Amino acid sequence: MAGFNFACKDVGMKCDFEIRGASTKDEAMQEAAAHAKHAHQLENIPPELGAKVSAAIRQGGGLLPHRL
Ligand SMILES: [Zn+2]
Repeated sequence: MAGFNFACKDVGMKCDFEIRGASTKDEAMQEAAAHAKHAHQLENIPPELGAKVSAAIRQGGGLLPHRL
């Protein structure tokens, strides 16, 4: 089963937070937003960062350029 994965450091944060196995890309985005709010004091995700996060979310089993 493929899940959606995201690593905070993939958008340039010095942070080890990762999301693994989210069932949808939206879910991964929401988890990333919740994390950004709590860990990075980002009350709202700026559109530019949202686009970066969206681009950095990978589906398991697909291309994982920095991993494996
Ligand atoms: Zn983070």
